[in-house]
Amino acid sequence: MIIIRLIILLVVVAILLWLLKRLFSPDPEPEQLQATRPENMRQCKYCGVHVPESAIVSLKDESYCCQEHADLDQQ
Ligand SMILES: [Zn+2]
Repeated sequence: MIIIRLIILLVVVAILLWLLKRLFSPDPEPEQLQATRPENMRQCKYCGVHVPESAIVSLKDESYCCQEHADLDQQ
């Protein structure tokens, strides 16, 4: 029954190699997901530039790319 021992040994070695491979090459998926995650784009009312919603400056229900443009448009 040496063949069964050999197969078990091979499986154990394969699992160890797989674990080592995972350990030394971390999965880049979470970072990639974050980079490609779609974000709503809003247009600056003053200069027309498209800015991600998280970076938008809101003033009186209008969207601006920066505080400066918000101030300039309100003048
Ligand atoms: Zn602007």
